[in-house]
Amino acid sequence: MRRDHERRRDARHRGRQDHRPDTRRRRQPGHPHPARRQRGTGRADPHRRADGHQRRRARADDRACVHVQPRPARFPRPRRTRTPALARRGRITGRRRSELTAVRVAIVGAGLAGLVAGRALQAAGATVQLFDKGRSPGGRLATRRIGGATVDHGAQFFTARTPAFARQVAEWQSRGLVRVWSRGFGDNDGHDRYVGTDGMNSLAKDLARGQSVSCSTMAFAVRPTGDGGWKVVLDDGAEHAADAVIVTCPLPQAFALLIDSGVDLDESVFRVDYDRTIGFLARLDGPAALPPTGGVQNGDEVFSFIGDNAHKGISTEPAVTFHASPAWSEANWHEDHDTLARLLTTAARPWLGASTIVEHQLKKWRLATPRTIWPDPCWTTAGGRIVVAGDAFAGPRVEGAHNSGLAAAHALLG
Ligand SMILES: Cc1cc2nc3c(=O)[nH]c(=O)nc-3n(C[C@H](O)[C@H](O)[C@H](O)COP(=O)(O)OP(=O)(O)OC[C@H]3O[C@@H](n4cnc5c(N)ncnc54)[C@H](O)[C@@H]3O)c2cc1C
Repeated sequence: MRRDHERRRDARHRGRQDHRPDTRRRRQPGHPHPARRQRGTGRADPHRRADGHQRRRARADDRACVHVQPRPARFPRPRRTRTPALARRGRITGRRRSELTAVRVAIVGAGLAGLVAGRALQAAGATVQLFDKGRSPGGRLATRRIGGATVDHGAQFFTARTPAFARQVAEWQSRGLVRVWSRGFGDNDGHDRYVGTDGMNSLAKDLARGQSVSCSTMAFAVRPTGDGGWKVVLDDGAEHAADAVIVTCPLPQAFALLIDSGVDLDESVFRVDYDRTIGFLARLDGPAALPPTGGVQNGDEVFSFIGDNAHKGISTEPAVTFHASPAWSEANWHEDHDTLARLLTTAARPWLGASTIVEHQLKKWRLATPRTIWPDPCWTTAGGRIVVAGDAFAGPRVEGAHNSGLAAAHALLG
């Protein structure tokens, strides 16, 4: 078993994408769980966000639902390793689609992993409800407008090296939703780097179509109902009952959500630190002075990635995304907004040529990249009725989040 994990981890390590370093989950004796450090009480505070701020209570009128007719999913099923909980109870397998709507699955987190899981489960006939604290689905697949410019400020591009994700990318490509940006920033390594044609968030919106997604809705806790089911407690006190729950938020947030669930939370799964990223988004009055590929990886001591959104084809106006490296972001995290803007404006200058910044925004990603990756594509507990998934499982990148979401759905479906 152990050797099997090591083989899979090594394979992932070999096939890693250059921008997002792959990492291996190792035990670090005596290292406290990040969620446990929040108040120094030894117990995570579910009212407190992982970044230390008090949770905002979502207003009812904030909430958005996406209800469109579902499209069928075309997913290969990964190798089955155990009897999935819902299948074992005969609730999904062997029944007609019309009967399957009785199975209720709640998904916390409508980033890529949650959306992929939701779509696969819905296609199988389950009744799925997603919750996300953000104003729209997508999580770290994030795109925003700055004046007339469009910028990706989370994931910048992605590769497709596994058959399951390659199929998804081919399907997106056939509908014109993704296109190839480059084959490497520096040397051409032969691997296509894809981008969302209308920005990375448009891919999340595409997956959300046909699903019921409650946005601006913070899940507060996952608790047993007492009759074998589960409920997701929302931050306004409302409760959503489900037969199974998939949690796809970053692991410190997942740990806080599940702390009252009564299930055994394996610390070796949840004890993960995340790298931070400070993003500096700049709209320019002229073209940026980046290399012909339109992107730069680890180009200097401040930035781990610089991407030209106009070159990428998502912005009609010149606009550049600068991502500060994890080390720089960590060292400068607590600087105030003006200081950060001044430091990053100075650092950005060599990449601007004759152009100047006419408008900028900062975006701080506290939980940007998991430093270690669990060897399985998702983690199940509570007799298989609670599944934890996301990019901390199948790889700290878009492809990993997709494959983990898919694995979470199939852990329930069989
Ligand atoms: C700055 C940056 C640059 C990146 N660049 C790349 C790149 O170039 N290529 C690449 O492949 N990958 C990149 N990545 C990684 C990639 O974006 C992620 O791996 C992937 O998007 C993660 O998807 P996910 O669904 O696992 O998690 P997320 O996208 O984080 O989704 C989790 C969701 O859970 C929600 N949530 C959290 N807590 C709660 C709660 N209590 N209640 C309700 N909702 C909650 C969040 O709002 C979020 O929407 C980058 C990431 C960052 C931050």
